[in-house]
Amino acid sequence: MTVTPASESIHESLASPNETMLVDRYNRTFTYMRVAVTDRCQLRCIYCMPAEGIDFTPDERLLTGDEILRIIGVGAALGVNKVRFTGGEPLLRSDILDLIRGASGTPGITSVNLTSNGLLVEDLAHELVEIGLTGINISLDTLDETKFAQIARRARLPKVLSGVKSALEAGISSVKLNVVALKGFNDGEIGDFAMLTKDDPITVRWIELMPFDAHQIWKTGRHMHAGEIQARLEELFPNLEKAAGTPTEHHIYRIPGHLGKLAIIPSYTRSLCENCDRIRITADGCVRNCLYSDNEFSLRDHMRNGGTDDELSRILRGAMWDKKVDGWASQRANDTGPEVHHRESMTQIGG
Ligand code: SAM
Ligand code: SF4
Repeated sequence: MTVTPASESIHESLASPNETMLVDRYNRTFTYMRVAVTDRCQLRCIYCMPAEGIDFTPDERLLTGDEILRIIGVGAALGVNKVRFTGGEPLLRSDILDLIRGASGTPGITSVNLTSNGLLVEDLAHELVEIGLTGINISLDTLDETKFAQIARRARLPKVLSGVKSALEAGISSVKLNVVALKGFNDGEIGDFAMLTKDDPITVRWIELMPFDAHQIWKTGRHMHAGEIQARLEELFPNLEKAAGTPTEHHIYRIPGHLGKLAIIPSYTRSLCENCDRIRITADGCVRNCLYSDNEFSLRDHMRNGGTDDELSRILRGAMWDKKVDGWASQRANDTGPEVHHRESMTQIGG
């Protein structure tokens, strides 16, 4: 299904009373913009994409670099200070360095980050630091080569590990590992992953599996609840200390004496929605006010129809004002919203 252009009447009905910031009815303020810059990827992680891939968005329907930086500029004028480029694999985009440079140079933006599968990080790590990247989250679900080839459907573990090493050596300020917790697959590796924090200032984050893949592998009994991950960690490391983290990281710990940290992200349980500070831009230029909301507003069509920055600002403010109280309410509203756009993969939304 394709998203329809945002109509004026819809945005008028969503008018936010706050003209200077991105806020909602539940007293949340949105300062963290996540931008999916492509839906393409070299891997085919089983929880994300089918083996044959998806119907990738044709280039002309993706946002251009100028359009992405324009949206970031409008967001920054509304108080956005942190940007994350994701996808798909953001480093596959030929203008990604220009995007990072441009975002870093945008007044008001103090933090520019990437979420990456790590495959291209080894070659780019130093340049990424030079142009202003402040943080990178690298996805890595297993430390076992055979399992990696099963989960990503490509045998690329050594390349990802070199990417992690290079990111640390290059001195990217924040290096985190995203590990999707999968029962019966990598729950036996929780201790091994935790030990990666011993000598490196890395944060290992276990993420709950979410229902964002057309094949719904999350229904096959692999899902591990945040509480189970926490219990396993506490069992393995009874002397865990509490530590500080970002608003949507849950149960943040440090093993005494370790340089890095451990975190659990309850992305399915949705227990941290009250702390949400995120606004999402999809690869094809829609603003999405919640990972679980299929109600989207096209910024791309508006820009290509000659829309002004003031109008973009109004769409962003209206979209966030319309945000539901939590991800459960967003999911329930999906059948009734005015501009429903069901996505078949996390690569299109930006994980
Ligand atoms: N390709 C990059 C990567 O893998 O880091 C960026 C895009 S990927 C969609 C972003 C994050 O979403 C990754 O950490 C990935 O593990 C996570 N992800 C994708 N599908 C997911 C699902 N169904 N449940 C939980 N996390 C998922
Ligand atoms: Fe690619 Fe990231 Fe999806 Fe894996 S999770 S298939 S690396 S976009």
